Amino acid sequence: MPEENEQISEDCVFCKILNGEIESNLVYSDEEIVAFNDINPKAPIHILIVPRKHIESVAEMERGDEFIVGNMIKVAKILAEENRIGEKGYKLLINVGEEGGQVVPHLHLHLLGGKKLREF
Ligand code: 5GP
Ligand code: ZN
Repeated sequence: MPEENEQISEDCVFCKILNGEIESNLVYSDEEIVAFNDINPKAPIHILIVPRKHIESVAEMERGDEFIVGNMIKVAKILAEENRIGEKGYKLLINVGEEGGQVVPHLHLHLLGGKKLREF
């Protein structure tokens, strides 16, 4: 059954969260995107916005994936407003690859806020 589900990678921690193998605190879910609280928060609000499709990183994006990433940003805006930081401001961050500080090889957008954040 090789092509059964090409969207999921078996060894990926975020795919395991997506299929319920690993628990998480889900704060958003639709057919394309989920969001959950970061296990090791670096700000009072630290949410990870994750596509259901296993895309390893921005560097591995395929044609059409830009629409998913656009929707991830839209979800970040909704979650920022829900968390009442829409007006004060927040930081959106995508780490790419080893030197970019990416640890989990499944594309994700960090939503950070709830305090004054330093440059990066
Ligand atoms: P990266 O450095 O890859 O951009 O960020 C990965 C993030 O995923 C880190 O902030 C880390 O704390 C978070 N993380 C890693 N494993 C888990 C997990 O099992 N559950 C949750 N909720 N977050 C995780
Ligand atoms: Zn994955």
